[in-house]
Amino acid sequence: MKKRYPNSKACKHALRRSHWMLEAETTIPTEPLLSEDIDDADIAIIGGGFVGLWTAIFIKQQSPDKKVLILERDMCGGGASGRNGGLVMSWWSEILTMVELFGEEEAHKLAKRSEQAITELETFCQTHQIDAHFKRGGWLWTAINEAQLGAWESTLEISEKLGDSPYQRLTPEEVYQHTGSEKHLAGVFDPTNGTVQPARLVAGLKRVALELGVEIYEKTPVTELSYRHSSRLKTTYANVTAKKVVLATNVWAAAFPELRKYLTPVSSSIVVTEPIPDKLEELGWKEGEGVTDSYQMIGYYRPTRDGRIAYGKSAADLTKGGRITNIFSQSEQGARLAKQDFYTIYPMLEDVKIDDSWNGPIDYTNEHFPIFGHLKEMPNIVYGVGWSGNGVSPSQIGGRVLSSLALELDNEWSNSVLVGTIDRGINRAFPPRHFRYFGGQIVRHAIIWCEKFEAKNKKPPRILRWVASLAGDIGT
Ligand SMILES: Cc1cc2nc3c(=O)[nH]c(=O)nc-3n(C[C@H](O)[C@H](O)[C@H](O)COP(=O)(O)OP(=O)(O)OC[C@H]3O[C@@H](n4cnc5c(N)ncnc54)[C@H](O)[C@@H]3O)c2cc1C
Repeated sequence: MKKRYPNSKACKHALRRSHWMLEAETTIPTEPLLSEDIDDADIAIIGGGFVGLWTAIFIKQQSPDKKVLILERDMCGGGASGRNGGLVMSWWSEILTMVELFGEEEAHKLAKRSEQAITELETFCQTHQIDAHFKRGGWLWTAINEAQLGAWESTLEISEKLGDSPYQRLTPEEVYQHTGSEKHLAGVFDPTNGTVQPARLVAGLKRVALELGVEIYEKTPVTELSYRHSSRLKTTYANVTAKKVVLATNVWAAAFPELRKYLTPVSSSIVVTEPIPDKLEELGWKEGEGVTDSYQMIGYYRPTRDGRIAYGKSAADLTKGGRITNIFSQSEQGARLAKQDFYTIYPMLEDVKIDDSWNGPIDYTNEHFPIFGHLKEMPNIVYGVGWSGNGVSPSQIGGRVLSSLALELDNEWSNSVLVGTIDRGINRAFPPRHFRYFGGQIVRHAIIWCEKFEAKNKKPPRILRWVASLAGDIGT
């Protein structure tokens, strides 16, 4: 059984790196590429983002003698993990989806577990002296126009019904005090959430993985995967034979037809301002709060430790056939949308310069929730993808599930409802690739038009609203 990996050549052209990666550059030493065959790997992990790194760490912590490799086509953090907004969030915001997929009891358990993951992340950083700029400033879910008012109501209702809801209802005045902008008409607050400098977190996880004995090979794209008794992975210069393979490849997992049906790569864009610590102080945006609006193409923003604002916008660009092109590292249109929204929310900062902008890939699923399992044709290969823009903290849960599956453990994680949702017919497939691109473009433009109406507090035409609703919410 063979599977070629499209889009997996080592990056030929210089990718646009994120501000985070450039800022953390000195803390992320590069690892060598794989130049000699390895025939005795126990577990080969494809992908050196948060998911791959956590998986490797948890495997080594539980089974120190296993030979564990990470094969990364670019550099660790070169994908979504070094490019995101750094909002550290739980799954409470996904509670409606989780109830729909798994029922109330499991949804409640997962929401609580994802909240615990944030505390574990904080502790992990302290224990291993990872200076990832972790700050538990909470998250404000806001409305920036009348159409968005109460966007959180059904989420809060079910959270309160299940118990342990983390949400606090705020007055408009309190929302203003947290964010410094009157454009936020209303909002709710989850104090359990936080922010990180994501590339510094990648650097820390990478260091811990190496200390535990994980072998990391960068600039090492896996170009072919075959499976008989063991899995054989072909890379540019050498081959690997491994008993188990973990696919932690985010949007690139769409190379597998079995997963492609359920994954659509979309882009998200971020701009970062010059340092403005005094202005942040004046605004009263002092505790490092992460903020989002309630657009379908969501806006997400947070201050940084050196007093900048990083402002992200889900630009939701698509590519034909889901190919991973440069749009996933840089897009003028995406940067323009993010910049435009930033100056709309913070008109008092119109003189503030934008220092940098970049794009990143989101592995979007219809349910807005990740999928885990074994590939049908190649059961020694396990996958955990589809983070849909909320993976900074939940990727730790991903690492627990994938390490348990790879080690064939019989535990809470391998038996979790998260595993095998495709096999249980829980996930909805997207339309075939070409329809998906053209249909997706129509839906995307309908959303952009709806946003324009709503920004002026006008109701979009019903047909436009209907077309836009076909997308659900597009995560960060
Ligand atoms: C712009 C943006 C903003 C976001 N904001 C937030 C946020 O604020 N909060 C939040 O929780 N989440 C956010 N996310 C989502 C979050 O970043 C991801 O969910 C998380 O990083 C997923 O980690 P990963 O390991 O699955 O993916 P990645 O970090 O993309 O790792 C996958 C790796 O696999 C490698 N790879 C792919 N194919 C191959 C191959 N054939 N051979 C070898 N290596 C391969 C890639 O190079 C890549 O490094 C955002 C994402 C983006 C893009």
